[in-house]
Amino acid sequence: MTPPMQDHDSAELRPYQNGFRWDGVELRPYKQDDAAPYKAVSRQELFAHPALGCQLRYFEVAAGGYSTLERHEHVHAVMILRGRGQCLLADRVRDVKPFDLVTVPAWTWHQFRATAGEALGFLCMVNAERDRPQLPDEQTLAELRGRPEVAAFLAR
Ligand code: MN
Repeated sequence: MTPPMQDHDSAELRPYQNGFRWDGVELRPYKQDDAAPYKAVSRQELFAHPALGCQLRYFEVAAGGYSTLERHEHVHAVMILRGRGQCLLADRVRDVKPFDLVTVPAWTWHQFRATAGEALGFLCMVNAERDRPQLPDEQTLAELRGRPEVAAFLAR
């Protein structure tokens, strides 16, 4: 009989610290490459495990900042943890607040903006192995701006 797989080495508790930090988790820049436009975003990698094939990150967008407007094949599950703001999801702009859950399906344009004068922080679950995000070209941007609410969002 095969014994149950044991993996005691990855058993851990990471205590929460004040200020949306977790014990032993490094505060990193949002993206490794600065080719994609974004403003005032930090990243903490909270969890990754090969058996799950996913990563759980915490991103924080400072007041007035924004994540990259992008789309990709991989999917995100996002849970807002702090602050208020807005997200662009496909061709709609949605207000978000703590504990709202946002599903970003494959190939859906998305961007998070801290538009309410305060930081916007959220958990994001994602595949560990994932495709590279695409950025919008000028034609795509023009199409998105065709909706007044999206134009206003992108201009903030
Ligand atoms: Mn994304």
